[in-house]
Amino acid sequence: MNTEKTIFSKIIERDIPADIVYEDDKCIVINDINPKARVHLLVIPKKPIPTLFDLSPEDKDLMGHMMLLLPQLAQAQKLDGFKTQINTGESGGQEVFHIHIHLIGE
Ligand code: 5GP
Repeated sequence: MNTEKTIFSKIIERDIPADIVYEDDKCIVINDINPKARVHLLVIPKKPIPTLFDLSPEDKDLMGHMMLLLPQLAQAQKLDGFKTQINTGESGGQEVFHIHIHLIGE
C-alpha cells in the first residue's frame, strides 16, 4: 500500500499552503490552483480515500456531508448554477489520488 501523503493531506495538515475557503471536522474546501472558471473549488474529505473505487459503506455519511455542502458553497460564491466533477482513476483523468469533488461555476 502506498503510504505517501497526498498533496491534499499535506494541505489539510498545513504542511503546504492553500487558499482555504471552508473547513469543518470532516472536510476542507480550497480554491483550485489552476482554476477552469471564475469559481473552481475542490471539496476534499480529511479521510484520505484514494478514489471512488475505495469507498466503503462507512463513508456514506462523509460523502453525503460533502454533497450537502456543495449548494451552500455555491451560494456563498454567488453562483446560481454550477458543475461538479469527480475524476476517478488514471483513465478517468484523476491526478491526485485523494477523493475530491470539483465545484465549477461562472
Ligand atoms: P484531478 O484531476 O485529480 O481530479 O484534479 C486535481 C486538481 O487539483 C487539479 O484541478 C489541480 O489543479 C489541483 N491541484 C493540484 N495540486 C494542487 C495544489 O497544490 N493546490 C491546489 N489548490 N490545487 C491543486
